[in-house]
Amino acid sequence: MNNAKTVIIGGGLMGLTTAWELISRGEPVELLEAANDVALESSYANGAMLTPAMPDPWNGPGVYRQLAASLFNPYSPMKLRISAVPSLIGWGIDFLRNSSVTRHREATRASYALAAYSVAETSKLRETLRLEYDAAATGSMKVFRDAAALAGPQRIAGYLTDLGLRYEVLDADAAVAAEPQLAPIRSQIVAALRYPDDESGDAYKFCRALADSIRQQGGVIRCGVKVTRLVNRGGRVLAVETDRGRIETHRIVLAAGNGSVPLARTVGLRIPIRPAKGYSVTIRRDARVEWPRMTVIDDMMHAALVPIGDRLRLVGTAEFAGHDKRIRQARIDNLFRLLENVYPHIAASVDRSTAQPWAGLRPMSSNGLPSIGRAGPEGLFLNCGHGHLGWTHAVGSAKLLVDQMLGVTPALDPTPYRPH
Ligand SMILES: Cc1cc2nc3c(=O)[nH]c(=O)nc-3n(C[C@H](O)[C@H](O)[C@H](O)COP(=O)(O)OP(=O)(O)OC[C@H]3O[C@@H](n4cnc5c(N)ncnc54)[C@H](O)[C@@H]3O)c2cc1C
Repeated sequence: MNNAKTVIIGGGLMGLTTAWELISRGEPVELLEAANDVALESSYANGAMLTPAMPDPWNGPGVYRQLAASLFNPYSPMKLRISAVPSLIGWGIDFLRNSSVTRHREATRASYALAAYSVAETSKLRETLRLEYDAAATGSMKVFRDAAALAGPQRIAGYLTDLGLRYEVLDADAAVAAEPQLAPIRSQIVAALRYPDDESGDAYKFCRALADSIRQQGGVIRCGVKVTRLVNRGGRVLAVETDRGRIETHRIVLAAGNGSVPLARTVGLRIPIRPAKGYSVTIRRDARVEWPRMTVIDDMMHAALVPIGDRLRLVGTAEFAGHDKRIRQARIDNLFRLLENVYPHIAASVDRSTAQPWAGLRPMSSNGLPSIGRAGPEGLFLNCGHGHLGWTHAVGSAKLLVDQMLGVTPALDPTPYRPH
């Protein structure tokens, strides 16, 4: 590439990691973010898990039954709201089409390959830049209260071992030895799956620290600038129009999460992404209470409890509710119920009035894989649609994209993630 600047749209995990990857290879960047600061949307209070062990897209075989049943159940972990149905029609058909056993398995393997690569690269970046984001490499563990429920996750783990996934099946005593804070519910645990290579860390802190490194390296990050339109002529991108004026450029990276869809449409490109709402609650440690050491996922409640330094994040649920980011109390109550069911002694110590509830919209693709690569007019590149795994996939996705932009052979086959 010549030394003309690349305009990156979006200051979440994808935009920032892409900006770093370009600037660290000597390519000038200008990143535009609509909000007043970076990482205030989906990348803000996410589940904090870097989890190659859970790469399976959510449209697994049988998902349509789950979604249909959810219309009548306010506590369902995956919920479809009737008001969102019209906006999901074309995307939804594709989402269900990709839920066949074969497609789901292929997507799971591709997602795992990107996740494993990305988590390794995230650690290297942390070391190189000395990024502080409460990183922990303590693994994760899925606990089961019903022996029959073990089969599905064990089958998925089984078909990833040839790609490098490590896991072990534990009985209740071994699960409590791995995470002593599970002792009060020991009698309810029938088995657990432990994934030693999973990591965790605060994505928001990571983004803030990475933004500092980008600026120190000479990259430009402009917050409070909303891109309104991409401009192309003769099959090439020419500029972006923003609410603060026009910026000329021949290279654009669209990394605007859910905001990528309307922007792509301005140059006639359709990107199959829809928002899937999720919730988290973050609680602070009470110094008198012992704290969990690793991420625990409660299989029955489809939700996770993730220690992040002296905080604990409760996270879960997927709701197709359009772009509505309102926090529904029933969903927050669900997360506190999770805490009571997994760590009753911690639940008893928590002052709920100081807990921080949050809702964010995962940019969910219809095939369960992100869009990374060239698409539409020449000069336009995508890095979006990472759904429930964007933190896990971020650093690897940026490398994969920038390798392609610079004509370098990527470490990973980019084919499964090509925009479709
Ligand atoms: C509840 C929840 C839990 C999650 N847990 C995990 C987890 O444990 N592990 C994991 O790997 N992933 C997790 N994820 C997924 C992960 O957080 C997302 O995939 C990731 O944050 C997506 O990053 P992004 O940069 O694509 O989007 P975003 O973070 O949404 O960033 C896009 C940015 O673009 C900006 N933008 C949009 N339109 C415009 C415009 N027109 N002009 C300028 N700027 C614009 C937005 O303001 C935003 O800042 C979770 C997500 C949620 C919601």
